[in-house]
Amino acid sequence: MATKNTELVLTPPQPHWVGDGFRVHNFIPGGYRTDMARMNPFILLDYGARHFFPSSDTQPGVGVHPHRGFETVTIAYKGRVAHHDSAGNSGVIGEGDVQWMTAASGILHKEYHEKEFSLKGGEMQMVQLWVNLPARFKMSAPKYQSITNDQMSKFKLEGDNGIVEIIAGEYKNVKGSASTFSPVNLLNAKLNKGGKAGFSFPADFNTALLVIEGEITINNTGEVKTDNFALFLNEGEDFEIQTVEGAVVLVMSGENLNEPIASHGPFVMNTKQEILQAFDDYQKGKFGFLED
Ligand code: MN
Repeated sequence: MATKNTELVLTPPQPHWVGDGFRVHNFIPGGYRTDMARMNPFILLDYGARHFFPSSDTQPGVGVHPHRGFETVTIAYKGRVAHHDSAGNSGVIGEGDVQWMTAASGILHKEYHEKEFSLKGGEMQMVQLWVNLPARFKMSAPKYQSITNDQMSKFKLEGDNGIVEIIAGEYKNVKGSASTFSPVNLLNAKLNKGGKAGFSFPADFNTALLVIEGEITINNTGEVKTDNFALFLNEGEDFEIQTVEGAVVLVMSGENLNEPIASHGPFVMNTKQEILQAFDDYQKGKFGFLED
Protein backbone atom coordinates (compact mmCIF):
# COMPACT_ATOMS: atom_id res chain seq x y z
CA MET A 1 0.00 0.00 0.00
CA ALA A 2 1.22 3.46 -0.88
CA THR A 3 1.52 6.36 1.53
CA LYS A 4 -1.18 9.02 1.52
CA ASN A 5 0.21 12.56 1.87
CA THR A 6 -1.39 15.93 2.49
CA GLU A 7 -2.45 18.25 -0.31
CA LEU A 8 -2.54 21.31 1.93
CA VAL A 9 -2.78 22.42 5.53
CA LEU A 10 -5.18 25.24 6.39
CA THR A 11 -5.01 27.63 9.32
CA PRO A 12 -8.47 28.62 10.65
CA PRO A 13 -10.31 31.12 8.43
CA GLN A 14 -11.81 34.24 10.09
CA PRO A 15 -14.56 33.10 12.45
CA HIS A 16 -18.22 34.01 12.03
CA TRP A 17 -21.19 33.62 14.33
CA VAL A 18 -23.96 31.10 13.80
CA GLY A 19 -26.78 32.71 15.76
CA ASP A 20 -25.32 34.19 18.94
CA GLY A 21 -24.04 30.90 20.36
CA PHE A 22 -21.55 29.40 17.96
CA ARG A 23 -18.37 31.15 16.87
CA VAL A 24 -17.10 29.00 14.03
CA HIS A 25 -14.34 28.72 11.46
CA ASN A 26 -15.71 27.33 8.21
CA PHE A 27 -13.18 24.91 6.70
CA ILE A 28 -15.60 23.29 4.20
CA PRO A 29 -16.71 24.66 1.80
CA GLY A 30 -15.44 28.18 2.51
CA GLY A 31 -11.89 27.40 3.46
CA TYR A 32 -9.45 28.44 0.77
CA ARG A 33 -9.41 25.94 -2.08
CA THR A 34 -12.09 23.57 -0.86
CA ASP A 35 -15.72 23.47 -2.00
CA MET A 36 -18.69 21.16 -1.40
CA ALA A 37 -17.64 18.81 -4.20
CA ARG A 38 -14.02 18.57 -3.10
CA MET A 39 -14.75 16.78 0.18
CA ASN A 40 -18.12 15.22 -0.74
CA PRO A 41 -19.78 13.54 1.23
CA PHE A 42 -18.43 16.04 3.80
CA ILE A 43 -20.06 19.19 2.46
CA LEU A 44 -19.68 21.57 5.38
CA LEU A 45 -17.37 21.72 8.35
CA ASP A 46 -17.89 24.45 10.91
CA TYR A 47 -15.36 24.35 13.71
CA GLY A 48 -16.03 26.18 16.94
CA ALA A 49 -12.51 26.52 18.32
CA ARG A 50 -12.23 26.97 22.10
CA HIS A 51 -14.14 30.06 23.08
CA PHE A 52 -15.05 31.27 26.56
CA PHE A 53 -18.66 32.24 27.16
CA PRO A 54 -19.34 34.19 30.36
CA SER A 55 -22.19 33.21 32.65
CA SER A 56 -25.55 34.09 31.11
CA ASP A 57 -29.17 33.65 32.14
CA THR A 58 -30.17 33.40 28.49
CA GLN A 59 -29.16 30.46 26.31
CA PRO A 60 -27.25 31.66 23.24
CA GLY A 61 -27.66 29.65 20.08
CA VAL A 62 -29.49 29.48 16.81
CA GLY A 63 -33.28 29.51 16.57
CA VAL A 64 -35.65 27.31 14.59
CA HIS A 65 -34.34 26.58 11.08
CA PRO A 66 -34.80 23.84 8.45
CA HIS A 67 -32.47 21.31 6.84
CA ARG A 68 -33.05 18.98 3.90
CA GLY A 69 -30.91 16.55 1.91
CA PHE A 70 -28.11 15.68 4.31
CA GLU A 71 -27.14 14.87 7.91
CA THR A 72 -25.80 17.20 10.58
CA VAL A 73 -23.22 15.70 12.91
CA THR A 74 -22.47 17.69 16.05
CA ILE A 75 -19.49 16.80 18.24
CA ALA A 76 -19.03 18.56 21.58
CA TYR A 77 -15.43 18.66 22.78
CA LYS A 78 -16.01 21.31 25.46
CA GLY A 79 -19.29 22.67 26.75
CA ARG A 80 -22.81 21.36 26.33
CA VAL A 81 -25.18 21.88 23.40
CA ALA A 82 -28.94 21.41 23.68
CA HIS A 83 -31.33 20.95 20.80
CA HIS A 84 -34.93 20.25 19.82
CA ASP A 85 -36.33 19.13 16.48
CA SER A 86 -39.72 18.95 14.78
CA ALA A 87 -39.63 15.12 14.79
CA GLY A 88 -39.91 15.30 18.58
CA ASN A 89 -36.28 14.55 19.38
CA SER A 90 -34.45 16.61 21.95
CA GLY A 91 -31.40 16.19 24.08
CA VAL A 92 -28.08 17.49 25.29
CA ILE A 93 -24.76 16.84 23.62
CA GLY A 94 -22.30 16.70 26.49
CA GLU A 95 -18.50 16.72 26.38
CA GLY A 96 -17.29 13.85 24.21
CA ASP A 97 -20.77 13.10 22.86
CA VAL A 98 -21.98 13.12 19.28
CA GLN A 99 -25.39 13.84 17.78
CA TRP A 100 -26.01 12.42 14.32
CA MET A 101 -29.16 13.96 12.88
CA THR A 102 -30.43 12.79 9.51
CA ALA A 103 -32.48 15.68 8.14
CA ALA A 104 -33.18 13.83 4.87
CA SER A 105 -36.66 14.92 3.59
CA GLY A 106 -36.78 17.78 6.04
CA ILE A 107 -36.65 18.78 9.63
CA LEU A 108 -36.82 21.92 11.73
CA HIS A 109 -34.54 22.25 14.70
CA LYS A 110 -32.89 24.70 17.08
CA GLU A 111 -29.45 24.45 18.69
CA TYR A 112 -28.30 26.38 21.72
CA HIS A 113 -26.19 26.29 24.88
CA GLU A 114 -27.50 23.96 27.54
CA LYS A 115 -29.07 25.80 30.48
CA GLU A 116 -26.72 24.81 33.31
CA PHE A 117 -23.64 25.34 31.12
CA SER A 118 -24.94 28.73 30.12
CA LEU A 119 -25.65 29.80 33.71
CA LYS A 120 -22.20 28.76 34.84
CA GLY A 121 -20.33 29.93 31.77
CA GLY A 122 -17.32 28.15 30.36
CA GLU A 123 -15.40 27.06 27.32
CA MET A 124 -17.22 25.80 24.25
CA GLN A 125 -15.42 23.79 21.58
CA MET A 126 -17.43 21.93 18.99
CA VAL A 127 -17.63 20.68 15.43
CA GLN A 128 -20.59 20.62 13.12
CA LEU A 129 -20.11 18.48 10.05
CA TRP A 130 -22.67 18.12 7.26
CA VAL A 131 -22.64 14.68 5.68
CA ASN A 132 -24.26 14.57 2.27
CA LEU A 133 -26.86 11.93 1.44
CA PRO A 134 -26.85 9.90 -1.77
CA ALA A 135 -29.64 11.13 -4.11
CA ARG A 136 -31.77 8.07 -3.42
CA PHE A 137 -31.85 8.82 0.33
CA LYS A 138 -32.31 12.60 0.27
CA MET A 139 -36.08 12.33 0.65
CA SER A 140 -36.13 9.46 3.15
CA ALA A 141 -37.56 9.91 6.64
CA PRO A 142 -35.63 11.99 9.18
CA LYS A 143 -33.75 10.06 11.81
CA TYR A 144 -31.76 10.78 14.91
CA GLN A 145 -28.82 9.03 16.59
CA SER A 146 -27.56 10.16 19.97
CA ILE A 147 -24.12 8.73 20.72
CA THR A 148 -22.87 9.37 24.21
CA ASN A 149 -19.17 8.95 24.85
CA ASP A 150 -19.59 5.99 27.20
CA GLN A 151 -21.40 3.99 24.51
CA MET A 152 -19.12 5.04 21.63
CA SER A 153 -17.03 2.34 19.92
CA LYS A 154 -13.36 2.61 20.89
CA PHE A 155 -10.11 0.97 19.83
CA LYS A 156 -7.19 0.94 22.24
CA LEU A 157 -3.97 1.59 20.36
CA GLU A 158 -1.05 -0.69 21.14
CA GLY A 159 1.27 0.24 24.00
CA ASP A 160 0.51 3.63 25.51
CA ASN A 161 -0.33 5.43 22.26
CA GLY A 162 -3.91 6.29 23.20
CA ILE A 163 -7.33 5.42 21.81
CA VAL A 164 -9.35 5.90 18.66
CA GLU A 165 -13.07 6.57 19.04
CA ILE A 166 -15.03 5.27 16.10
CA ILE A 167 -18.00 7.59 15.63
CA ALA A 168 -18.85 6.05 12.25
CA GLY A 169 -17.29 3.63 9.80
CA GLU A 170 -14.55 1.33 10.91
CA TYR A 171 -11.10 1.33 12.49
CA LYS A 172 -8.97 -1.85 12.71
CA ASN A 173 -12.11 -3.96 12.26
CA VAL A 174 -14.02 -2.18 15.04
CA LYS A 175 -17.32 -0.84 13.69
CA GLY A 176 -18.45 2.69 14.44
CA SER A 177 -21.43 3.65 16.55
CA ALA A 178 -23.44 5.61 13.97
CA SER A 179 -25.08 4.07 10.94
CA THR A 180 -24.50 5.92 7.66
CA PHE A 181 -26.05 5.94 4.16
CA SER A 182 -22.75 5.73 2.26
CA PRO A 183 -19.22 4.69 3.26
CA VAL A 184 -18.13 7.27 5.85
CA ASN A 185 -15.38 7.01 8.47
CA LEU A 186 -15.40 9.53 11.31
CA LEU A 187 -12.82 8.97 14.02
CA ASN A 188 -11.47 10.79 17.04
CA ALA A 189 -7.83 9.89 17.69
CA LYS A 190 -6.90 10.71 21.28
CA LEU A 191 -3.15 10.33 21.48
CA ASN A 192 -1.04 10.29 24.61
CA LYS A 193 2.40 11.93 24.91
CA GLY A 194 4.64 10.40 22.27
CA GLY A 195 1.62 8.69 20.73
CA LYS A 196 0.98 7.72 17.14
CA ALA A 197 -1.79 6.09 15.12
CA GLY A 198 -1.96 4.69 11.61
CA PHE A 199 -4.91 4.98 9.23
CA SER A 200 -5.77 3.32 5.95
CA PHE A 201 -8.52 4.42 3.58
CA PRO A 202 -9.15 3.77 -0.13
CA ALA A 203 -7.08 6.17 -2.28
CA ASP A 204 -10.13 7.79 -3.86
CA PHE A 205 -11.96 8.49 -0.57
CA ASN A 206 -12.02 12.18 0.33
CA THR A 207 -9.93 12.44 3.48
CA ALA A 208 -9.03 15.22 5.91
CA LEU A 209 -8.24 15.80 9.56
CA LEU A 210 -8.71 18.58 12.08
CA VAL A 211 -6.40 19.04 15.05
CA ILE A 212 -8.61 19.68 18.08
CA GLU A 213 -5.87 19.68 20.70
CA GLY A 214 -2.08 19.55 20.60
CA GLU A 215 0.19 19.40 17.58
CA ILE A 216 0.90 16.55 15.21
CA THR A 217 3.12 15.52 12.37
CA ILE A 218 1.76 13.49 9.47
CA ASN A 219 4.00 10.74 8.10
CA ASN A 220 6.75 12.19 10.30
CA THR A 221 6.92 15.42 8.32
CA GLY A 222 5.63 18.95 8.68
CA GLU A 223 3.70 20.14 11.66
CA VAL A 224 -0.04 20.59 11.98
CA LYS A 225 -0.91 22.86 14.87
CA THR A 226 -4.01 23.12 17.05
CA ASP A 227 -7.12 24.24 15.11
CA ASN A 228 -5.49 23.50 11.74
CA PHE A 229 -7.08 21.38 9.04
CA ALA A 230 -5.16 19.04 6.74
CA LEU A 231 -6.60 17.90 3.43
CA PHE A 232 -5.16 14.72 1.91
CA LEU A 233 -4.42 13.92 -1.71
CA ASN A 234 -6.65 11.35 -3.38
CA GLU A 235 -3.63 9.13 -3.85
CA GLY A 236 -2.20 6.43 -1.62
CA GLU A 237 -4.00 4.72 1.24
CA ASP A 238 -1.93 4.78 4.42
CA PHE A 239 -0.83 7.57 6.71
CA GLU A 240 0.32 7.92 10.27
CA ILE A 241 -0.03 10.79 12.71
CA GLN A 242 2.44 11.42 15.54
CA THR A 243 2.48 13.74 18.54
CA VAL A 244 5.08 14.70 21.11
CA GLU A 245 2.89 16.27 23.79
CA GLY A 246 -0.40 14.48 23.11
CA ALA A 247 -3.20 15.40 20.73
CA VAL A 248 -6.86 15.00 19.84
CA VAL A 249 -7.49 14.71 16.11
CA LEU A 250 -10.75 14.36 14.20
CA VAL A 251 -10.18 12.19 11.13
CA MET A 252 -12.74 11.95 8.32
CA SER A 253 -12.69 9.86 5.17
CA GLY A 254 -15.60 9.04 2.89
CA GLU A 255 -16.44 7.73 -0.53
CA ASN A 256 -17.12 10.54 -2.98
CA LEU A 257 -20.82 10.42 -3.90
CA ASN A 258 -19.99 11.73 -7.40
CA GLU A 259 -23.45 13.24 -7.80
CA PRO A 260 -24.26 16.84 -8.73
CA ILE A 261 -24.65 19.25 -5.81
CA ALA A 262 -27.19 22.08 -5.75
CA SER A 263 -27.20 23.97 -2.48
CA HIS A 264 -28.81 26.99 -0.96
CA GLY A 265 -28.47 27.79 2.73
CA PRO A 266 -29.80 24.86 4.76
CA PHE A 267 -30.81 22.76 1.72
CA VAL A 268 -28.39 20.54 -0.20
CA MET A 269 -29.92 18.67 -3.11
CA ASN A 270 -28.86 17.51 -6.59
CA THR A 271 -30.71 20.00 -8.82
CA LYS A 272 -31.88 23.61 -8.71
CA GLN A 273 -35.46 22.39 -9.15
CA GLU A 274 -35.15 20.34 -5.93
CA ILE A 275 -33.90 23.44 -4.09
CA LEU A 276 -36.93 25.44 -5.26
CA GLN A 277 -39.12 22.53 -4.16
CA ALA A 278 -37.46 22.60 -0.72
CA PHE A 279 -38.27 26.31 -0.30
CA ASP A 280 -41.83 25.67 -1.42
CA ASP A 281 -42.29 22.72 0.95
CA TYR A 282 -40.74 24.71 3.79
CA GLN A 283 -43.09 27.65 3.20
CA LYS A 284 -46.05 25.29 3.08
CA GLY A 285 -45.14 23.90 6.49
CA LYS A 286 -44.18 20.44 5.24
CA PHE A 287 -41.12 20.36 7.53
CA GLY A 288 -43.37 20.12 10.56
CA PHE A 289 -43.62 22.53 13.44
CA LEU A 290 -41.30 23.59 16.23
CA GLU A 291 -41.90 26.30 18.78
CA ASP A 292 -39.29 29.04 19.04
MN1 MN B 1 -28.95 23.25 12.15
